[in-house]
Amino acid sequence: GLSVESYRRQHEITISGDNVPPPLTSFEATGFPSELLREVKQAGFSAPTPIQAQSWPIALQKRDIVAIAKTGSGKTLGYLIPSFIHLKRTHNNPQMGPTVLVLSPTRELATQIHDEAVKFGKSSKVSCTCLYGGAPKGPQLKELYKGVDIVVATPGRLNDFLEMKKVNLHQISYLVLDEADRMLDMGFEPQIRKIVKEVPTRRQTLMYTATWPKEVRKIAADLLVNPVQVNIGNVD
Ligand code: ADP
Ligand code: MG
Repeated sequence: GLSVESYRRQHEITISGDNVPPPLTSFEATGFPSELLREVKQAGFSAPTPIQAQSWPIALQKRDIVAIAKTGSGKTLGYLIPSFIHLKRTHNNPQMGPTVLVLSPTRELATQIHDEAVKFGKSSKVSCTCLYGGAPKGPQLKELYKGVDIVVATPGRLNDFLEMKKVNLHQISYLVLDEADRMLDMGFEPQIRKIVKEVPTRRQTLMYTATWPKEVRKIAADLLVNPVQVNIGNVD
């Protein structure tokens, strides 16, 4: 309808994909659990950001997504909240391995994502741990062995744990590549490809990137299945 078109135009949202659901322009429209909405409002947020509004309904349809949006646009909750809903739907036992995997380029970013997952995942009762290099492996393994729903990891450290047979990704069904362009710039492509080989092909894959160069297009073409592409603003 007209309002969908005008919301997309006003927020510079462009989309490619079939039968893309309309944006959820208010928190009430999302249908998220009320305790979660309370947390979001307590954080001082008044409405979904454009990337959240447009990518949430697509993610909730279990479709693959490539989202291209600049830093600061709210991408983290764009994939985390649908991951909480996914976890609720799957009923997996975290003792059998994590269900959600988020790959992030740096320790700092991975830690921020983990903190956001803990803060907003409390009412959904999800557990999360963070794996990154430059720190001892023992404490990270100890957390992992408690059994967690969500693992946020840098590709280097996760790949180390895979080679040591310390982590099992066979139950992952929701895979996020955050800051994909930056991970490739940092030379993580071989580790990412090794990790993804350990993740079942029957999964939902979400890729977030600030830029859309050919290297990122190539890995998206290899790892995602018929993704909906959402661009916010004039990012290439
Ligand atoms: P990106 O990953 O796109 O760079 P972040 O997910 O880190 O962006 O979000 C940037 C900031 O915006 C964070 O401080 C986050 O808590 C905040 N934020 C997220 N969603 C909303 C919202 N709906 N309204 C206001 N602020 C938000
Ligand atoms: Mg981010």
